[in-house]
Amino acid sequence: MPRVITSADDPALAELCGRLAGVAEALDASGDWPAEQLRLCGEYGVYEWFVGRQWGGQAWSQQDVLRAYLAIASSCLTTAFVLTQREGACRRIESSNNTALQAKLLPRLVRGELFATVGISHLTTSRRHLARPVLSYSIGAAGGVKLSGFSPWVTGADHADVVVVGATGVNDDGTAKEEQILAAVPLTLAGVKPETPVRLVGLSASHTGRLAFDNVALPEQWLLGPPAPNVMAAGKGAGTGGLGTSALALGLAQAALRWLEDEAPVRAELLEPLEALRREAAKAEEDLLAAARGEPACSNDELRQRANSLVLRATQSALAAAKGAGYVVGHPAGRWCREALFFLVWSCPQPVLAANLCELAGILE
Ligand SMILES: Cc1cc2nc3c(=O)[nH]c(=O)nc-3n(C[C@H](O)[C@H](O)[C@H](O)COP(=O)(O)OP(=O)(O)OC[C@H]3O[C@@H](n4cnc5c(N)ncnc54)[C@H](O)[C@@H]3O)c2cc1C
Repeated sequence: MPRVITSADDPALAELCGRLAGVAEALDASGDWPAEQLRLCGEYGVYEWFVGRQWGGQAWSQQDVLRAYLAIASSCLTTAFVLTQREGACRRIESSNNTALQAKLLPRLVRGELFATVGISHLTTSRRHLARPVLSYSIGAAGGVKLSGFSPWVTGADHADVVVVGATGVNDDGTAKEEQILAAVPLTLAGVKPETPVRLVGLSASHTGRLAFDNVALPEQWLLGPPAPNVMAAGKGAGTGGLGTSALALGLAQAALRWLEDEAPVRAELLEPLEALRREAAKAEEDLLAAARGEPACSNDELRQRANSLVLRATQSALAAAKGAGYVVGHPAGRWCREALFFLVWSCPQPVLAANLCELAGILE
């Protein structure tokens, strides 16, 4: 039985990462849900990191959580990504005022007995140009609500016990009101249906797909708060373009740089570009951890944009150095390049997207 990891410096974290890295290629090839990886995370106590001690958690500092994410993402990006969505759900529940729901869910989430995830991007970065919300609520019986529509992106929806979702109130013509709600929806409720996960350019094993709500009657006990404008701004967890998203990008960049380091001793031409990338990665990691300590050197958006840029260039450098062999399915360099593209579309605030496009167009900001 593995030892519970109690800090980001714990050697057991390196042991877990080694086990995840050993099966990362097979996970990508199969596209199967990472059930074994998540079971291992449970054994190593990973689910304790994000939750307060009163619920059985270890309440790690944000800096320690990000250091652990860097390590896990450099070993298996899919596992790291699924963990972020699970963490987002836990934090939203923990930062709500619904103490009865906290007591019901958090101890079981900490013990790994439940899997929770989030479907909130339609309130922030997805379908925002549409006049009619894709997932709406109306007031239901006894303080509860009715949910209709779909949440377009829910990682692991087909394996979830609970999904934290956002929904928008609508006028009679279906246009959006200001009020929104956040709720923890049990997948056992009638009318909640995960659709078949979509096949993705990378991270297909994350089993991301649409979660449909067919006139779902949700009792009040599952609401994380009363209806309010801009519910994502209150509480914590699964925020857009947060430091966790940058940590995952920098972790994947580390994997590519480690591979280049292994090649460099016999290939002198790799040394100069590797050194430049390594310096950039070290500075970005330093700024990430400083921001986690509350001493930011730049804005979260700027950090994310730098992390996006670095992960694309680092993974493509590994591919260029791996040459044709790297372009063969099964070589990690090709997989890392596909996985790096994820950061162009995942939880990307508008200013980051604009900066990415300017960089790709060769326009200096
Ligand atoms: C693998 C993966 C996993 C994810 N997991 C989760 C998760 O677990 N939970 C979660 O909440 N979210 C998740 N997301 C969502 C993610 O964070 C983003 O919200 C999502 O990638 C945004 O893409 P979209 O296609 O929905 O964007 P949209 O903005 O809806 O764009 C869709 C299409 O609409 C058109 N369009 C876009 N903007 C405009 C415009 N202004 N005017 C006219 N047309 C426009 C374009 O043709 C575009 O292709 C995930 C995304 C991915 C790819």
